[in-house]
Amino acid sequence: MKFLADPTLGKLTKWLRILGYDTVYYMGDIDRSFLRKAQKEGRVALTRRRDMASRSFSGQMIIVCEDQVQNQIKEVTQKLSLKPDQGKLFSICLKCNKELKEVSREEVRGLVPDYVSENYKDFRMCPQCKGIFWPGTHRDNMLDEVKKMLDSG
Ligand SMILES: [Zn+2]
Repeated sequence: MKFLADPTLGKLTKWLRILGYDTVYYMGDIDRSFLRKAQKEGRVALTRRRDMASRSFSGQMIIVCEDQVQNQIKEVTQKLSLKPDQGKLFSICLKCNKELKEVSREEVRGLVPDYVSENYKDFRMCPQCKGIFWPGTHRDNMLDEVKKMLDSG
């Protein structure tokens, strides 16, 4: 499942990426070209523009009604009956929307602080920004957030 999110859905874009969904954040006007891009790339169009519901569009579109990102995630996953895969969490660079590649501890030595390369072993690198990611505290906090979003009702 891939998404195309309109410019008002920046937070939702980030959280969909955290959940492991390829999500393009669309910065242009919400018009025909938005829908054309979604269709061409096989993405579910996400928009807050209610008037888009009346456009003819053969692809899949969700008019997001909720305001809070936690509720938006619930709204989207429920409408699509999506069950986010825990194994896919944090598999995409939040900045670039690129799939992260696994890299070894040896490869990241010198690129991350020593205590990190000594204490962690699961490293991933973004092929675009070359950012290196590992399961740290920040990520644990986010995981709790994700669980809250998906569990409660
Ligand atoms: Zn990146």
